[in-house]
Amino acid sequence: MEVTRRQAATALALAVLPCAGCGVVSKLGGANPADSADATASGHAAASPSAIAVPSESVPASPAAAALPLAGAIVGIDPGHNGGNFTDPGFINQLIWNGREQETCDTCGTETATGYTEAQFNFNVASYLHADLISRGATVVVTRRSNDGVGPCVNRRAQIINHAHADVAIDIHADGGPTWGRGFTVLEPVADGPNNSVITSSVQFGATVRAALLEHTAMPESDYYGHDGVIFRNDLAGLNLTTVPKVLIECGNMPNVTDATLLVTPSFQRDLARAFAEAITKFLASA
Ligand SMILES: [Zn+2]
Repeated sequence: MEVTRRQAATALALAVLPCAGCGVVSKLGGANPADSADATASGHAAASPSAIAVPSESVPASPAAAALPLAGAIVGIDPGHNGGNFTDPGFINQLIWNGREQETCDTCGTETATGYTEAQFNFNVASYLHADLISRGATVVVTRRSNDGVGPCVNRRAQIINHAHADVAIDIHADGGPTWGRGFTVLEPVADGPNNSVITSSVQFGATVRAALLEHTAMPESDYYGHDGVIFRNDLAGLNLTTVPKVLIECGNMPNVTDATLLVTPSFQRDLARAFAEAITKFLASA
């Protein structure tokens, strides 16, 4: 379908604020603020999309674990938004400092035309990635443990991963771009002070993630946002405040029917997780 310049400009303007908006009435259950309270550092246990398992006690690493490719590594995962965000607009709309300016604590994220929410997608991919990383021997820090809570705010998410001294971190999202646009985009930080020491490493990690997505998933590079699947952003707390190498991935465009068909499919979500695990392993091996 032909797209006018004005339509394209409007769509691109919308794409500048990915995942924004809380006008969606979610079908998910009530909020559980306790879930948003803190990070999970886990050295074992498998995860499922219903919850990221939290160990009750630490278990010494076995000799076999020490030989795993990510033994000794700390990896941060931030599944964007939260399934209960729509229940507490006062909390979600509060202003926080993102390192350059004020922005809202969070949004509700976007969704597909059939109502599959970005928060659920992000959480599922994060859960699969969590399991993959644990199986490779990593210690994993997550910013939320379920998809029925509220928050935490985006600045708090950055702090959780910074305070864990993660070796690398990934923010998982899907975009709310124009319906005609397809593909993934890697969002990379711009130097602003707090993140100065991790710009080069984040760009290297982003290139590794981009290559892994092309190799291991069916999602193409974005045809509406950024260039060659990459864009630099200086207006997001997760990138502005990071002190560890980090990128934010828009894994696809939820309003696009072709992308949505992939994004809602568990096998594709697992492919994404595998691509991220491969990229993290490759990046840390070369660091
Ligand atoms: Zn998002």
